[in-house]
Formats: sequence, C-alpha cells, structure tokens
Amino acid sequence: MTPEEFRAHGHRAVDWIADYLAGIESHPVRSRVRPGEVRSALPEHPPERGEPFDAVLADLDRVLLPGVTHWQHPSFFAYFPANASGPGILGDLLSAGLGVQGMVWATSPACTELETVVVDWLAELLGLPKAFRTDAAGGGVIQDSASSASLVALIAALRRAGGGVVADRGIAGHYRLYVSSQTHSSLEKAARVTGIGAANVRLVDVDPDTLAMDSAHLRRLLAEDRAAGAVPAMVCATVGTTSTAAVDPVPEIGAVCREHGVWLHVDAAYAGVAAVCPELRWIDDGVAEYADSYATNPHKWLLTNFDCTVLWLADRAPMIDALSILPEYLRNPATTSGEVIDYRDWQVPLGRRFRALKLWAVLRWYGAEGLRAHIRTGVALAAELAELVAADPAFELWRPQRFGLVCFRPLWPGLPDAEADAATMALLEWLNDSGDLYLSHTKVPVGHERVLLRMAIGAPATERRHVLAAWERIRAGYALTARERGV
Ligand code: PLP
Repeated sequence: MTPEEFRAHGHRAVDWIADYLAGIESHPVRSRVRPGEVRSALPEHPPERGEPFDAVLADLDRVLLPGVTHWQHPSFFAYFPANASGPGILGDLLSAGLGVQGMVWATSPACTELETVVVDWLAELLGLPKAFRTDAAGGGVIQDSASSASLVALIAALRRAGGGVVADRGIAGHYRLYVSSQTHSSLEKAARVTGIGAANVRLVDVDPDTLAMDSAHLRRLLAEDRAAGAVPAMVCATVGTTSTAAVDPVPEIGAVCREHGVWLHVDAAYAGVAAVCPELRWIDDGVAEYADSYATNPHKWLLTNFDCTVLWLADRAPMIDALSILPEYLRNPATTSGEVIDYRDWQVPLGRRFRALKLWAVLRWYGAEGLRAHIRTGVALAAELAELVAADPAFELWRPQRFGLVCFRPLWPGLPDAEADAATMALLEWLNDSGDLYLSHTKVPVGHERVLLRMAIGAPATERRHVLAAWERIRAGYALTARERGV
C-alpha cells in the first residue's frame, strides 16, 4: 500500500470508526452469534492474491460486526468499563503509523522519554507518592495489563526477598504470596508463572461485611509461615476488587508488611484512576507510606484504549536486577552509559509498542478537568442507581457501594437460596439476550456464596437516561421472572 493509497483507505477507515461510534446504540450490546458462526462465515484458506482494502471493510460490516460485543455502547455495564475515546484511538493509530519498537532507549528515544513523562504526569494527577517518580528511586512504566503489572511486581518482590538466588536457582518452593479470596485471579497466575506455585498462595480472610482483607489474619499467617521457614515474598492489597469494588485497608496491611519486611503491591487496576478527583484521593491512603508497587489501568476507566496499565515502583532496582539481561545484539552506547532508561528491563517481553502516545493524547485532550468530569459522571450515576435499588423492596443493594460499580441482588421470597440464585441468573440471561443492556454477575461469600448482579457505570457514552432505562428493564425482567417462577 503506497502512502497515497493509505491516505484514501485511511480516510475511509476513520469514517467507518466515526460512523460506528455515532451509531453504536443501533447494535445489540452483547453479540448474539453462536459459537463458530463467525469462523464459518470466513474463508477456510488465506487469499492467494491480494484483495482491495474495501473488501476488508465490507467483511467487517457483514461478518465481524455481528460477532462484536459493543464495549463502547452506553448500555454496556458488564465487567468493568474498557474506555475508548477519540484521542485514545488516534494516539493508538499514530503509534501504529510510526511502527516503533521501543525495546531500548536507542531504538526510539522519544518512545522511552514520552513514556517517562506521561507516567510521571499521571502519578502527579493521581496524587501518588514522590518516590514513584522517575527522578527518585522508583518510576512508572506502561504494561499491557494489570496482570503483567502484578507479575513484574512479584518478580521484583522475589528478587528482593531472595537476592540473586531466585534468578539463578529458582525458588525452591519456600516463597509465599498473600492475597484474599477477593484478589484478582491474575495474582494466582503470577504465582504459577514465577514458580511460587498456586499451593503457596496464602488466602487471607476477609471481613464478611465489606470483603476487605483482614490485616490481623495476615499478621498471623506471616508469623506462622516465617516460623515454619517459609519466605513471605509479597502481599497484594486491592483497592477496588473485581467482584464488588471492595477496598482493602492499605495502611493497616502496609504496617503489617513493614513489620515483616514484605513487599506490598497495591492493585488498583479499576479504581486507582479515580484518585484524579480530590474527593476520592483517599484511594491513595497508605500508598506513600507502604507500597512497594502500585498499578492502575487507564484502559479501564480513564478514557485510554486498551491496552494501558501503569505500574509504579518505589524502588526500581530489584525489578531491573531481576529482569535485565544484556545480550550482545542489544548492546549500544546509550545503554552501557547508564544514562538512559531501557523499559525492556521493566517488563517481561523485550518488544514494546509506543503506548505512551495514546495516554499522552488523552491527558492533553481532556486535561485534569476533563478526566475528573468523566470519573464524577460515573460515580454520580452509580450513586443514583444505588439509591433506586435500595428503595425497591424487591432488590437488595450490596453495601458498601463504591465508585462506578453497583452490585445488587433480586429477592425471590419463598425460594430456597439455590433456586433464588438460579432465578437471578435466568434474569441476567434474559436481560443480556435482549441486546438492550449488558450486565455481569459475581458470587460473594455471605455465609455461603450468593449470586450478585453487577452494573459497572463508566463508558464515555453513558448518560443518565441509559442508566434509568437499564433499571426499568431490570425491574420489568424481575417481574416477569418472578411470575414465571411463582414468586
Ligand atoms: N486487578 C483487578 C482488581 C481487576 O479488576 C482486573 C480486571 O478487571 C485485573 C487486575 C486484571 O486486569 P487486566 O485485564 O489489565 O490484566
């Protein structure tokens, strides 16, 4: 494709995206295709001869679009949001256009230096500690995901706990990772990947009402494990858990970590970006004093297209010691001078995209004011919905309700718990099948596990009318399901 051909097709592709976003409400939120339907509509073999790009766009409409779930739809309330925005999309496009591979500073200095600037900017916007700034001992780095951030943090924590021994001889089965039942599954995955092993992940109790980690139990587990000769490597506290947006008490957990000299990672993948609002700055409580590493995802709720997680460290040295390998083919004067950052030593892969461009574009387009307005809209709509749920005797609101997430349970008087949960799941499927909205669910331990519906508000296009329409739909679905089940 020549630059002129690219210009023509590029204009059409941008028009396609603009039309898609303008008309997004015309699509069912959740794709209705059956398993295999998209694949069977595509040719079995690759084309022998090149095809016009218009044919790709035509198949995008005809074959792929029905198989797309529309995450940017204003009535997408499932999981957590995965915000895309104009500046985020354009930043990603520019990154693709430059086609830069920023593995070391020398392969594209701007890629590294812009990243250093934007992660420092974001630390400032979120009120994160000075130690996380690159000109201090720490620094931030963009990762593809919070899962990778947790993995890198754990690798660094193991390095600090075990010195060079871990990198050289493996971990010999005696390291431990501490999480709660509410911690994201990526932490167990990190334990598997690093070789700590799932069996050495210790589950700290949670408070039954708030689902926040119990720091007293953590203290007991750490003492027990130390007495038994194990080495506690890392504790992961979460601010905004995946299920219910619960908040672990970071200051208390941090104090326990400090007593035991254990690495504290704070996973604020979803909620951390909300600290852009001063009234939500409490999100950072305990981070400056105790966190060795901290991660949040601009790709969830901060208008930046997937993928963009920022991981900060209070001290970058253990991570770099653990991950830096300099083969001959990567040697270059800038690296050996020690004057530059090579972010390849701050992540698992070698290669890296110019992700800073999209975050830069987002921060510049919205400014701190625009980012705050976006978060505040989600928080206010969620609070309004929570009031409606709480006022309706057919539903029970999960408290504490936090950030843009509202969890609740329909009540099915007379039905035993298992049947009540089945009715809740049937209602969920009925709603999601309608194509008008998309919710997700979770299970919480209230005595035993019970199903909750989750409604996460925070897509850039979501307005009050979408939330109110969703609530009316939920109530109508409830009335129908209740009648069917004789409630
Ligand atoms: N941590 C928390 C608290 C999350 O909610 C999630 C995803 O929802 C993750 C980690 C994993 O995020 P990612 O998809 O960026 O790996």
